[in-house]
Amino acid sequence: NRKIVLNDYIIGFPKESDMSLKTSFIKLKVPADSPNAILVKNYYLSCDPYMRNRMQKNEGSYTESFKPGTPIVGYGVSEVVDSAHPNFKKGDLVWGITSWEEYSLIKAPESFFKIQHTDVPLSYYTGILGMPGMTAYAGFYEVCNPKKGETVFISAASGAVGQLVGQFAKLLGCYVVGSAGSKDKVDLLKNKFGFDGAFNYKEEQDLIAALKRYFPNGIDIYFENVGGKMLDAVLLNMKIKGRIAVCGMISQYNLEQPEGIHNLLCIIMKRIRMEGFLVIDFYHLYPKFLEMVLPQIKEGKISYVEDMAEGLESAPAALVGLFAGRNVGKQEYRRKLT
Ligand code: NDP
Repeated sequence: NRKIVLNDYIIGFPKESDMSLKTSFIKLKVPADSPNAILVKNYYLSCDPYMRNRMQKNEGSYTESFKPGTPIVGYGVSEVVDSAHPNFKKGDLVWGITSWEEYSLIKAPESFFKIQHTDVPLSYYTGILGMPGMTAYAGFYEVCNPKKGETVFISAASGAVGQLVGQFAKLLGCYVVGSAGSKDKVDLLKNKFGFDGAFNYKEEQDLIAALKRYFPNGIDIYFENVGGKMLDAVLLNMKIKGRIAVCGMISQYNLEQPEGIHNLLCIIMKRIRMEGFLVIDFYHLYPKFLEMVLPQIKEGKISYVEDMAEGLESAPAALVGLFAGRNVGKQEYRRKLT
């Protein structure tokens, strides 16, 4: 059983050399001392920014640290190869939290979702039909309280979550602008996802002025993925009674000291509602989400761009690449096709 393990807790930017490929022996059967466990074969494994937080030694965080020397833990799409759990049987396709290895023993599989719809790419269950899709759905519809005609800004807009939030906002009839870190990503936002506007934040000298250019009358909704300087610039451009859904702050994850935000007073002056959220609080809405999004995918109303790395050995580079913006769309990797 080949696996990717974390060597030790990290500080600062993650590096490929923080992880190693190891091999161990595994019996393809649930052991007798693991009642209710399932054994799965992992097909697609997801690289997500929150995993950086689990690579450091955490106390009091909402997620536990990974254990050095053991496989990285993360979302994946898998097939049950043996089951001692009454709700799962051999051959079931599932998605949920598994490990970065070829086969995983899941001791408490209750939080796994069974995959019922296989007429879409299976890899979608690490992205649009999995955790990032639910994040976009919950963050936009449940936190932002959006209305037709409103102005929406999304940072890290071409990524796993952002590309969907933008398309949801367009389908609702909003004016939508996104920021991203390369020309190709900006083109994707405008030409593939139908954003009204997009800009490369790395090429803007003055983010406040860039936002004014796209939102002369201000922003109703900001879907926050990056934090730092972008958040500061957005606060000055928000409308009165605007809403900010704080989904993530990726620009801060590798810093030992988070950057200070200077324009927080705008929250009072403009009566802004700024709300953080975690997708794990919204999984009860998953059936409702699927009911909405599956037809949209099948009718071509929503598209989804994935960045697929090949094989376990490519996983560390794929994960590290998120923090340099190397991914174009949802970053994941698949078992090598032989
Ligand atoms: P993405 O697919 O968007 O990948 C990360 C992207 O972030 C990179 O491609 C890069 O895009 C951008 N980025 C990296 N470093 C920086 C930086 N220093 N400054 C600005 N942008 C940067 O990731 P996801 O869509 O999966 O996640 C987006 C956000 O949502 C993250 O902050 C994540 O932590 C958060 N999240 C929160 C959840 C929740 O429950 N609250 C659940 C899932 C995700 P670019 O080239 O455009 O810079």
